[in-house]
Amino acid sequence: MTLVCQECGKSKPASGFYQQPRRLRPMPICKDCHKGRVSARRIKRRAELSEKVRIEMTEKEEIDTVVTPTGRRLATIKEACRYGRFSHTKCYELINAKRIRAYKFDTRTLVDLDSIDAMFASLPEM
Ligand SMILES: [Zn+2]
Repeated sequence: MTLVCQECGKSKPASGFYQQPRRLRPMPICKDCHKGRVSARRIKRRAELSEKVRIEMTEKEEIDTVVTPTGRRLATIKEACRYGRFSHTKCYELINAKRIRAYKFDTRTLVDLDSIDAMFASLPEM
């Protein structure tokens, strides 16, 4: 018994078509075409997802900073962590190791975002 695929128009044996568990007849398109559709849908979904992530990441780029007259771009620890994409713990580690610069504004700690840029720029190549 051969069936004709609605997608590619080829005649193929019934084994070339997936059975539909709840219906009595096989799928109208062959296994190859079905696989093609599924992977096309998967590729599309993956592309949409990565686009969403990209937009979210761009939104996150907007960091609240205080630009001082000296040109320093200062941000809170929280904002600095978002900017550098590291944890609070890592942020304090970097400050203590003098890998990034931070300033004390009374009780608050302000991190120099340019020093984060500089640190990333100076990372050794693997
Ligand atoms: Zn087909």
